[in-house]
Amino acid sequence: MSGKTSVSGAIPCGSIDVVDASDAADIQLRLRRDNSQDPQAIGYYYFRVSGVRGRACTFRLINAGTEAQARLAGRDGYEDEWTNTGPHVSYDRRHWFRIPGKLEGGAYVFRHEPEHDVCYYSKWAPYPPDRELDLIARCQLSPRVRIATIGRSAAGTDLDVVTIGEPAPKKKVCWILARQHPSETMGGYFIEGLLERMVDESDPIARLLLQHAVLHVVPNMNPDGSRLGLTRTNAVGANLNREWMSPSLQRSPEVVHVRSQMEGTGVDFCLDVHGDEELRCVFLGGPLEIPSRSTFLAELFNAFEHSWAAASPEYELGHPYPGGAPAEADLRMAWNWIGERFKCLSVLLEQPFKDTSWWQDPIQGWSPERAVRLGASLPQAILGVLPRLRPGPQ
Ligand SMILES: [Zn+2]
Repeated sequence: MSGKTSVSGAIPCGSIDVVDASDAADIQLRLRRDNSQDPQAIGYYYFRVSGVRGRACTFRLINAGTEAQARLAGRDGYEDEWTNTGPHVSYDRRHWFRIPGKLEGGAYVFRHEPEHDVCYYSKWAPYPPDRELDLIARCQLSPRVRIATIGRSAAGTDLDVVTIGEPAPKKKVCWILARQHPSETMGGYFIEGLLERMVDESDPIARLLLQHAVLHVVPNMNPDGSRLGLTRTNAVGANLNREWMSPSLQRSPEVVHVRSQMEGTGVDFCLDVHGDEELRCVFLGGPLEIPSRSTFLAELFNAFEHSWAAASPEYELGHPYPGGAPAEADLRMAWNWIGERFKCLSVLLEQPFKDTSWWQDPIQGWSPERAVRLGASLPQAILGVLPRLRPGPQ
């Protein structure tokens, strides 16, 4: 049997519009926009192609160039998100390798001659919803773990918090959030590495951390956006990372519920996990521009950066948040709002979509495997500053 060439975004977490797939040598595709006017609310793609074994295929994302014009504020002079990177490709949906891609006359173009009948292409390896449910199910078997469903998303999906360790008055309270922006799927792998280390009873770092801290982990702030293959928003078009000052149950229930839990536990440390399309490094943002900024917080952030660099060479010092410090922090963003509300070390993490410049992997670039290991390095990074975090809830 020989099937026709077929291109489809109709898979879980899929995203692409097919313009013309009648000629494998010139497959024309269009990136989908989220239900939002935000110029950044477009850019993710993930699709399945079949009937392509041994066929020389050319894929053109015809609106990528226009999308690349919508640059982030403060990013002038940085290379665009389509340069120096290629899609993640997989036959078995487990191992993701890269092929080259580049902007050609307004379209992002990649060429590939698949070795098998069915092939998957994505801006970055997806983190499937089933894998997330499996991870949470596996974690709850640990005596260290409790799972709490704290509310529902805008489209009615359960929002889970994974708590590791027994809360106690003297223990530091650490919150880790991931995937407010659904296309930043490396956050899913990061959380997997973190949780698997924290439930490993033979791991001395996890053991020591849990003597002095309790961790509340939100594996996915935006499960609807993930399932729908969106780039930046939830099911009703809200960019959750602009909702933290005044979230609402209609527009951003995900933020309402997590904020409410934080008010109950207090926060001594928070990490909000993101992905960056343009830079070729792992980098952090600290609570340095919030109204309550202080020498104490600046020194604490500096100590955390050094602690993480010691825990993992993937975090390299010397890559500050791009664009320089704004005069005032945007308190609609989780990391700033949490830092201001709880006067604590609240940090933004960005992993690259591309690769790191310090260690270039020509096969995979920044990969799920590297994201897992970066997540597994977080407990040691926190441990390095733990005695200096503010004790107890406010
Ligand atoms: Zn993000």
